[in-house]
Amino acid sequence: MSDDTRRQIVAVYREIDRRGLIVASAGNVSHRTDSGMIITPSGCSAETLAPALLVAMTLDGDVRGDTTPSSEWAMHAAIYQACPSAQCVVHTHADACTALACLNEALPAFHYMIANFGGDDVRCAPYVTFGTPELARLAVQALAGRTACLLANHGVIVHATTADRALSDAIVLETLCRQYLLARSAGTVRLLTAEEMRAAHERYRTYGQTGTREQAGQELSS
Ligand SMILES: [Zn+2]
Repeated sequence: MSDDTRRQIVAVYREIDRRGLIVASAGNVSHRTDSGMIITPSGCSAETLAPALLVAMTLDGDVRGDTTPSSEWAMHAAIYQACPSAQCVVHTHADACTALACLNEALPAFHYMIANFGGDDVRCAPYVTFGTPELARLAVQALAGRTACLLANHGVIVHATTADRALSDAIVLETLCRQYLLARSAGTVRLLTAEEMRAAHERYRTYGQTGTREQAGQELSS
């Protein structure tokens, strides 16, 4: 189980790296375990990352072994503590998500797929210094009722019930942010109404998994 989890974390990290969502170690991936979580080490790279280099630790910060966990371990731990459904957490500085986060704006209901993240927008947590307990607290606050939030002047964080879904959601959110910025640069975006979003949420509930998620999942396991 633990070996499988470690392999999944490495696969997710390599895939977000391959897709250009992380540059120069600016990202980290974790998965919940019975005793806490397993997280990518500080300053890791897709080329050298291996299952044995991942860091097992409790959600209180007790590290097993000598490897230093990602500097954002507290944000991952706080999400597992606050969101019982969270099994995998992905944090990146992906271009479009980070660009919108630098405007200190939420991603609004410009597209029905925003419903994929649990609400009618993807909030943006206010800026505080990276790696601090305050950032962990503000991220959890911005994630209320959502599976993703932007982090002002920093990046984005996503959680999901499986590693496959966390991967595909990180990819989908980056695509949505890019599409929103593109639309905004072309003119005035018409946002969906509350009623239109209600219908989108209902559709997601009825039809479950999206094709996008299934596709990304297949890519990860192949
Ligand atoms: Zn970061």
